[in-house]
Amino acid sequence: MIDVLIQRAHELDAADRLAPFRHLFSLPGEAIYLDGNSLGALPKATPARMEQVIRGEWGTGLVRSWNDADWIGIARRVGAKIAPLIGAQSHEVVACDSTSVNLFKVISAALDIQSQKGSGRKVILSEPGNFPTDLYMIAGLERQGLAERRLAARDKLAEALDQNVALLMLTHVHYKSGAMHDMVALTKAAHEAGALVLWDLSHSCGAVPIDLNGCGADFAVGCGYKYLNGGPGAPGFVFAAERHHAAMHQPLTGWFGHSSPFTFSDDYDPAPGIDRMQCGTPPILGLSALEVGVDLIAEIGINRLVEKSRALSSFFLECTRQLGVDLELISPADSTQRGSQLSFRHNNAYAICQALIARGVIGDFRDPDILRLGFAPAYLRFQDMAEAAHHLADVLESGEWQRPEFSQRAAVT
Ligand SMILES: *Cc1c(COP(=O)(O)O)cnc(C)c1O
Repeated sequence: MIDVLIQRAHELDAADRLAPFRHLFSLPGEAIYLDGNSLGALPKATPARMEQVIRGEWGTGLVRSWNDADWIGIARRVGAKIAPLIGAQSHEVVACDSTSVNLFKVISAALDIQSQKGSGRKVILSEPGNFPTDLYMIAGLERQGLAERRLAARDKLAEALDQNVALLMLTHVHYKSGAMHDMVALTKAAHEAGALVLWDLSHSCGAVPIDLNGCGADFAVGCGYKYLNGGPGAPGFVFAAERHHAAMHQPLTGWFGHSSPFTFSDDYDPAPGIDRMQCGTPPILGLSALEVGVDLIAEIGINRLVEKSRALSSFFLECTRQLGVDLELISPADSTQRGSQLSFRHNNAYAICQALIARGVIGDFRDPDILRLGFAPAYLRFQDMAEAAHHLADVLESGEWQRPEFSQRAAVT
């Protein structure tokens, strides 16, 4: 059976228009990397670009590079390149800070918009099991008496949207299950209830179709080191719809969000547009690496990435079925309803994941019982799908995962 699947995979790879892009990434020898949704792979162009930024722009250009190398414009420049991937206008996106920090700024700005309207609304509505940092970032605002957290299960969100909800804050593609929210319907429901909407696109951007302006979304944040391949700890990004720019105020009023940072005025005056979402001096090295990743994803194009993502995960599922893998799929079976990942539930998911890693199939484990496999469409092959499914079938059938070394928990999984 595996020979038939490998044969089929070779045919699919031969017909794959994205196949040439794999060679633009630096991937370790024999590994099959199914964790690009956690940390994207290294674009081959990144080290050379970093060398140029470090030795040339920093080493030689020194402080002159703020102008000569346009360091001053990099946050907006990278933001503008991300914009078309998420259905935004170029002046509505800025690349800056971590996703956690960006969540804080945007939640605060949304609460502030509600209070300017005199609505008295303070409730941030989200779902239990949302990515931890998203839920934790509400806590700091709750402590200051500015927010109140409310959680409702996915199918109860619409009815939890009452006149107290200031902001509906959701992660578009769930990090554990890969399930995708209906952005159009939920944005509409929130607006009808008088709430604003914030979408976390960390597991979406670069992998699934997103049309923020098409559905009238208010705010979004996203991650630079997952499908955008910006490198570990790369800056994230913020989207704010143009209609909010004038009334939007975030509390981290640093000098890079000032209308004129280099007039060194004593008084804060927010920049007119999306720039007011910036805070301090941008991390030029991190943004430079992110720009290489974003350029590459933009060049491949989101439509082709989406198409390939769906084809890869569907083929992987097909292979597991043919090979008799008996695991509970918790991701939506319909590829249009999920992100670029498949998650399986098993009591021994941790050990299975470790056994796969020992064979060079790098996926990840999510507590307490989820084996998560991500399919970054920019650099994976159909051959990888067939081989990974074969390893998974083998690990399960042979009972190899029961070896004691595979149940030793590491600090970071
Ligand atoms: C990865 C991820 C983050 C990451 O936040 P950091 O501040 O970069 O650590 C946030 N939210 C979601 C939903 C994520 O998947």
